[in-house]
Amino acid sequence: MAAPGAGTLGSGLSEPGAVAGDASLNGLEQDDSMTIAAAHLSDTKPRVLVIDDSKDVHRLLKARLRNEQLDLSHAESGAAGLEAVQQEAPAIVLLDLDMPGMDGFEVLRRLKDDAATIHLPVIVLSGLHSSQDKVTAFDLGAVDYITKPFDLTELRVRVRSALRMHGLLQMLAQRAQLDGLTGLWNRAYFDQRWGEEVASCQRHDRPLSLAFFDADHFKSLNDTYGHPAGDQVLIGIAQIFQRVLRQTDIACRYGGEEFAIIMPETEPDEAVKVCERVRDTLENVCWERHPERGVTCSIGLCGSNGSVSVDAAAWLQATDEQLYKAKQGGRNRIAVHQFGGPGKPKLKKAG
Ligand SMILES: [Mg+2]
Repeated sequence: MAAPGAGTLGSGLSEPGAVAGDASLNGLEQDDSMTIAAAHLSDTKPRVLVIDDSKDVHRLLKARLRNEQLDLSHAESGAAGLEAVQQEAPAIVLLDLDMPGMDGFEVLRRLKDDAATIHLPVIVLSGLHSSQDKVTAFDLGAVDYITKPFDLTELRVRVRSALRMHGLLQMLAQRAQLDGLTGLWNRAYFDQRWGEEVASCQRHDRPLSLAFFDADHFKSLNDTYGHPAGDQVLIGIAQIFQRVLRQTDIACRYGGEEFAIIMPETEPDEAVKVCERVRDTLENVCWERHPERGVTCSIGLCGSNGSVSVDAAAWLQATDEQLYKAKQGGRNRIAVHQFGGPGKPKLKKAG
């Protein structure tokens, strides 16, 4: 499933393109003998984009960085460089200052003005001896500079250093979206992702389902066995998500004892089966701290087989209403509503 890799679950799973935080930390702790690939930590080579109007510079860098595990791409003007940044999402950029048309300063300014690229590490390539140019480049947000002609050792060290920074920034960005207790995605990530998934469902007329899971009688469990036992249950539920959900499902801790599962490309009938597997697995867990007391959950589910004219907030509200119905219906069950489907919500009984 698409749960984040870091956290207490130890599955090491993450979404395609996401960076595994722990691997990044390992890379950062190593010394300079590390390779650039190790520093970057993904199994694909880090992409380094060179923006320079000189073909000779591209040839030279290709030769000099041949033995580094890099995916080197190039652009020969400022405008082409900005385009390549959008298309290729490089890990770092090597940027020439002196170019006809849009110069490096302007490229840097535009990269730093765009929220999507503001943190992209840029190393300035400068053939100029003017220290004022370097100062200006740093003021504009460059992380480093390399003076032409290139010194091979210096070039490698500075590229490695920028790649480390890229890895660290990605790790921090991902950690800020994780729930500290369960290692699942947190509420902030959910809010952002849910909006994107609803928009995508509407644009492409694709199925989408959303489920809210709420642990039953959780307050009483905390009161009876203490908060560490309650925490253990939350962690246990997250582990069940890890085991039972599919690769494409997105599990989030919504708050307290409530979890949200986004199921892209999933019709409500299929989503019910997925949720039922979780419900059934949880019901049968024997808890170390309280073997005499099991834990169940109630589930509200709302889905669509195709495009619907429901916005993200209304969809959430409708899912919450189903959760309420599952609770009212006796807990340990799923209540389902299908948008644009058979009008009457149905209650699926436990077991
Ligand atoms: Mg130039």
